Amino acid sequence: MPQNLILPQRHNKVPSARLVIAATDAQKRQRLISSSIAIVWMENPGENMRLIALTLGLMIATTCLAEGVDRELLGEQAVERLVEYLQIDTTNPPGNEDRAVAFFAKIFDDEGVAYESGDSAPGRGNIWAVLEGGRKPALILLNHSDVVPADASAWDEPPFSGNIKDGEIWGRGALDMKGTGILLLQAFLALHREGRRLNRDVIFVATADEEAGGYFGAGWFAKQQARLVKGAGYLLNEGGGGSFMEGGIAVFGIEVTQKVPLWLRLEAHGNPSHGASPRVESSVTRLIRALNRIIEYDFEPRVLPALDELFKGTADLARPDLVESFQNMSEAVKDREFLLALQLYRPSTNSSIRNTCSITRLEGSPKINVVPPMSAAELDCRLLPDQDPDAFIEQLTAIMNEPDISISKLLSFTPAVSPSDTELFAIIKDVMTREFRNARVLPTMSVGFTDSHFFRDLGITSYGFSPMLRDPAKMKPGEGPHGHNERVSVENIERGTRLMLEMLERFVYD
Ligand SMILES: [Zn+2]
Repeated sequence: MPQNLILPQRHNKVPSARLVIAATDAQKRQRLISSSIAIVWMENPGENMRLIALTLGLMIATTCLAEGVDRELLGEQAVERLVEYLQIDTTNPPGNEDRAVAFFAKIFDDEGVAYESGDSAPGRGNIWAVLEGGRKPALILLNHSDVVPADASAWDEPPFSGNIKDGEIWGRGALDMKGTGILLLQAFLALHREGRRLNRDVIFVATADEEAGGYFGAGWFAKQQARLVKGAGYLLNEGGGGSFMEGGIAVFGIEVTQKVPLWLRLEAHGNPSHGASPRVESSVTRLIRALNRIIEYDFEPRVLPALDELFKGTADLARPDLVESFQNMSEAVKDREFLLALQLYRPSTNSSIRNTCSITRLEGSPKINVVPPMSAAELDCRLLPDQDPDAFIEQLTAIMNEPDISISKLLSFTPAVSPSDTELFAIIKDVMTREFRNARVLPTMSVGFTDSHFFRDLGITSYGFSPMLRDPAKMKPGEGPHGHNERVSVENIERGTRLMLEMLERFVYD
């Protein structure tokens, strides 16, 4: 059983005022001191004398434990909790995130943390808890509890086993993002256990539905708990982290923005006819001509300031013949040869400097000998985060240059970039560079999207960051988040818990 220091606080809603004092802190000296403190149990809050004795005991304990809870135990407990969490099947669709709510609720009950939960739809549970603090803008710790489907036949360990093998914890969600969810949870609980005055509210939120757009999760929460969210100034979520690059250098990316998804449906209309008499102006021919122009169009490359910092900061780690170009990316992108080389070398970097459109769905006639009155295509476009979606649609219309093709938006987010010149950014950078010598910590942009946009839209500075360091060389192609054999090392969970707590402590204590 983990040894906790649970102090009665406003947010402690355990009615029987159960107080448990016990050992904490990684340092042995403190371990010795604290382990000599007996576990004290207060069954009846009316016993004044015992309460005084307890209060004195607590004061002594708090003084002894000035450096907080036992970080080693906290990390070990994180591993245990992650194993249990990974065994909960929250595959979306359908989600069943109520199961995750029950998992967190039990932990909050055990730890004496007040929480609330709510369903956005049957089975689609969301849970949140607040540690109340001072007046500085609140910090939200956001994580999603759903996972993408896993094809068990392609895995070496069952995807909902939580098996630990060779120092790695296996399971769908280990990286995306139950692992980070547990780091956030453990750090949050440690703040609660420490019982020190916080300079701001800290809000833990586990939401449903991220993998299908987040409308039953973070999107729902941001609206349903608008008042709570309104007081927030910062948010930590998935989206960034560390990996080894060439030369064994650790590079940590703090995700400050994302490409903006703009999902479009194009429809061409025309007269239906018999397949035996082709027409030049049918819905199909016009749609194909339009799509062809989109495929052949080169969207203009552009380097955002946040990314320029990333390119410069990692230029020396690029392929030798490209180092110079990475150092001066804004100039380099004017060279067609370089752009072609980049597309082959790092497709994701190529996507990070331009708008892109992938044609992903096509619809024509249901019958081979009928020229249909309507044909349609769906496009997954991703825009640079300072691009106005409506202006882009206008540009696309001009590129297609075909009459009578309608464009409708299936999904469109507002573009937003979080600043990187904040205290929280500086703290993350400092904690990571102290831990990993020679590490680089830089702002990044995700070419995909997470739930952070719901909060960036509200002006909340949102960072995608998990203090984990992964080695891409250890993963085979097709493994990892959304792939098979998703797993995370025990080391990343234990160390990550300690680092996450360190970052939070520096941010929420004055
Ligand atoms: Zn995720």
